[in-house]
Amino acid sequence: ILSLSLQAKMSRPMQARRLEGIDKNIWVEFVKLATTYSKVNLGQGFPDFPPPDFLKESFVRALSGENHMLHQYTRAFGHPPLVKILAQFFGKLLGQDLDPMTNVMVTVGAYQALFCCFQAFVDEDDEVIIIEPFFDCYEPMVKMAGGTPVFVPLRPKAPKDGRLMSSADWQLDPAELASKFSKRTKAIVLNSPNNPLGKVFSRGELELIADLCVKHDVLCISDEVYEWLVYDGKEHIRIASLQGMWDRTVTIGSAGKTFSATGWKVGWIVGPNRLLQHLRTVHQNSVYHCATVAQEAVAQGFQRELKLYGKPESYFIQLPKELQQKRDWLVQSLDAVGMKPIVPEGTYFLVADISEFKSDVPDVPNSEEPYDSRFAKWMVKNKGLAAIPLSAFYCGAHKNNYNHFIRFCFAKEEATLKAANDILQKWKQEKTSP
Ligand code: PMP
Repeated sequence: ILSLSLQAKMSRPMQARRLEGIDKNIWVEFVKLATTYSKVNLGQGFPDFPPPDFLKESFVRALSGENHMLHQYTRAFGHPPLVKILAQFFGKLLGQDLDPMTNVMVTVGAYQALFCCFQAFVDEDDEVIIIEPFFDCYEPMVKMAGGTPVFVPLRPKAPKDGRLMSSADWQLDPAELASKFSKRTKAIVLNSPNNPLGKVFSRGELELIADLCVKHDVLCISDEVYEWLVYDGKEHIRIASLQGMWDRTVTIGSAGKTFSATGWKVGWIVGPNRLLQHLRTVHQNSVYHCATVAQEAVAQGFQRELKLYGKPESYFIQLPKELQQKRDWLVQSLDAVGMKPIVPEGTYFLVADISEFKSDVPDVPNSEEPYDSRFAKWMVKNKGLAAIPLSAFYCGAHKNNYNHFIRFCFAKEEATLKAANDILQKWKQEKTSP
């Protein structure tokens, strides 16, 4: 019996080759640390305030209304009321006449939209250009599809006039970007407004990327989940609206970010049918279908927003107004204690320089772990404040190039931001008192 059970034990590798090297995930580790130790969690990106009442009411109506079919399957590529309103809404923004059935697809959050894109477009040996720092899942998703990520960094330039650094001071070097395009380049991933920096790419920067895409016949996967979160009167420009780009761009959005309801996991992709037809192939052979009730509620949310578009009552006007104030509070808190903030032009994230706090968390020479990662772990364990190390948003080879920054999320109630401020103030006092 013993020898039989030994024989029965499988000895060959269990996992498929495509999983090699992508098993670690920063969020699993840091979410666990935050749950265990944090008193104030400014780590993972989600609001701790509720979604707007009109959206919650739409969900309740969908759930308990007369139409019990909302509890059943709906159309695989998107609940008809949702794809119809998304086609209308984004058609207007992109200057395109969109067919709801072929130009829009609903996904399980923007995360699954990204997964569909890489699976549908990336072949073995294809290269995909990723701008650093980047939302970390792009890299493993490209690898899982058999492709090779090629990284190009945003390069910071310290402002000379003594003002705080802005996310706009992080820019692509045009020659460096151009040098990354080759015959093997299949796609570039653009994320504007960018997580983690909050950078909102300017028209000039987008034109630079667009020209290279056209010149090298490359696709653009444009992750625009923070499209409404732009501050100081800045404009979010959709790369698909630039000349020559509609045909080669898929634009990704998220109801989680748009309506402050990340748990609903409703996302979408808008683009030409020529591209979307392949996304439908991945979707129908993997997820197939997203939760109907949530799609119905998001459709109603967009119907309201279409009516109020550009008006002061619009959530897409009110949310950024509130978040800009929260950004300013956090900027002030951090600046006051010497944790230098990089003022974000968009998103609900803010990256801060921890150099002045290095004496509290000494570096370990030759440690494999980037300094900012050790710092963020120390901070949550010792100060109860959770944040995410910036190195998590760089590829393995570049993790140590930008390892003295941490990212905070400021989509939080006033009380949460105040509690963070109290922790920082106390910490600063302990540092300065003998
Ligand atoms: N893209 C970016 C840049 C993000 O920050 C996130 C969420 N943190 C996503 C995509 C995923 O969005 P969702 O929650 O809709 O899946």
